[in-house]
Amino acid sequence: MRYAIIADVHSNLVAFQAVLQDIESKGGIDEIWCLGDVVGYGPEPHACIELLCQYKHICVAGNHDWAAISKLDISDFNPYAAQAILWTRQQLAAGDMNYLQGLPQRIKRGDFTLVHGSPRHPIWEYLEPGWLSTKDVEDNFNQFDTKFCLVGHSHKPIVFQQDSLKHYSVTKIPSEIRLSFESERLIINPGGVGQPRDGDPRASYAIYDGEAQMVYYYRVNYDISATQQKMMEYNLPSPLTERLSYGY
Ligand code: ZN
Repeated sequence: MRYAIIADVHSNLVAFQAVLQDIESKGGIDEIWCLGDVVGYGPEPHACIELLCQYKHICVAGNHDWAAISKLDISDFNPYAAQAILWTRQQLAAGDMNYLQGLPQRIKRGDFTLVHGSPRHPIWEYLEPGWLSTKDVEDNFNQFDTKFCLVGHSHKPIVFQQDSLKHYSVTKIPSEIRLSFESERLIINPGGVGQPRDGDPRASYAIYDGEAQMVYYYRVNYDISATQQKMMEYNLPSPLTERLSYGY
């Protein structure tokens, strides 16, 4: 079985479609594993939920997904993110809200645990180097019992490793991870589909091939200006529009 690992679509339908097309060109997948934040920031929340639901998929809740249905207060959001959430709330159909309401915080599938933020705080903690002490990283590895954990939220494609001696390291995600040879436990972030933040504006995602025990990491060009045009039409905050050009 093959699985697409996607995170942080953020209502960017054009980027999401480009990723789905790229997946098809690589032989397709059996199921999508979505790491949350389907909505927020971008111009097409309803269409993104609708498109995701056309696929066999599992999905965990992100902070923007919860904020969009008022399950999370937006007082902790920056003003632009909060403004986009207020707009998003008006765009969601009843079915969309039900869908977001039903998303779990954590899903376990075989060797993998799926969360949006971190194993310790699935909704809001950022697993980002520089923000975390070694103790924080260690604590997070203690908060899931599978070999691998998949996270989103930071929109940065990185891999945390815990070796057999419980030493910790973090690297940029490589283009291929051979899981069968890994004695390490890993926390893998496939980067963001709809709002990359690693300085590369292309959409970011991964495919897990269960038979080969491989994770493949990909970047995909999409029509950024098409998404920006829609954001301008809906008067979404211009810093959110501009950042898509730069991937930060
Ligand atoms: Zn996000």
